[in-house]
Amino acid sequence: MSTYKVGVLTDKNKVEIRELEKKQPGRKQVLVKVDSCAICTLEQRFYTGVMNRYPFAGGHEVAGIVEAVGEGVKSVASGDKVSIRLLTSCGECYYCRNGHENQCVLSFIAETHEGIGGPGGLSEYMMVEAKNIYKMADDMNLEYAALTEPLACCVHSIQNGDVQLGDDVVVIGVGIMGALHIQLAKLRGARVIACEVDDARLEVAKKMGADIVINSKNEDAISKVKELTDGRGADVVFCTVAIPEIGSDAVKMTGKVGRTVFYSSFHPDKPIEISPNKVHSTEQIITGSVNPQTKDFLISSRLLSNGIIDVSELISARVPFDKIDEAFQKAIDPSTYRIIVKF
Ligand SMILES: [Zn+2]
Ligand SMILES: [Zn+2]
Repeated sequence: MSTYKVGVLTDKNKVEIRELEKKQPGRKQVLVKVDSCAICTLEQRFYTGVMNRYPFAGGHEVAGIVEAVGEGVKSVASGDKVSIRLLTSCGECYYCRNGHENQCVLSFIAETHEGIGGPGGLSEYMMVEAKNIYKMADDMNLEYAALTEPLACCVHSIQNGDVQLGDDVVVIGVGIMGALHIQLAKLRGARVIACEVDDARLEVAKKMGADIVINSKNEDAISKVKELTDGRGADVVFCTVAIPEIGSDAVKMTGKVGRTVFYSSFHPDKPIEISPNKVHSTEQIITGSVNPQTKDFLISSRLLSNGIIDVSELISARVPFDKIDEAFQKAIDPSTYRIIVKF
């Protein structure tokens, strides 16, 4: 019997390596040899104990090489480089049927490894349904391909923000998500203004293509945005920071018929004050963005495969699988971008 190793979070600050039996793919299944798995906020929450449904097989930002496919698989063949979609939807609920599968009421119940809950990307091998496999370019760097999921989340957000040619777009926060928003908004033909309190991150914003950067610790971001837009306010504001007061600023700096997109999730979810009369009179739209749809994932895989989006600056370190604890330690350090676990 041949086996493979999988990293499982079994308690706060505890990752155990388990050995499971390696199987052959069924009709519509694909066996992937994992190359890279990035550690996202979800995994960090389990590692730090904020979320505690153990055991949890983490890892949902994954890329690798197809090792074997079932006889019913048409889209990929062994040897292909692929990215895997792991936070999937049920396909049966109301929202899955009406084209909003990112609002699925049963999502994230994936169980990739027998008997262990969780997306399971921190593993040497994965067995996945062919429909959740996205073929990447032959010359694709698989570390970059592992970031298909976070980029897909931002693609969805940009669609919700409905960024148009020539728009003035504000991106608040230049973590990895803010950085990807900047690149995508530039692709849509916007002038991008990045707001951050950290100078090093404002440098990253410039590398991502931001036209103007504002250090909101040193200057009032709302009045600066108003000044830059002849008093109108921005056409679109993306809030990628989970601070309620900043969410309130995002609404205030949005101009007439503009869109405010709450990208981050808020924990705790402290309510903010919004002027209903401003919303009434400006017709501004306040919306959010949560998880990508299937199409966003496809778009993201193409943007990466074709070299349109560059994520090289957003990988802070690569750590081998046998040092997985070190990888988590690095990932929870707020000064890092993505940490990639290598297999
Ligand atoms: Zn993620
Ligand atoms: Zn569903």
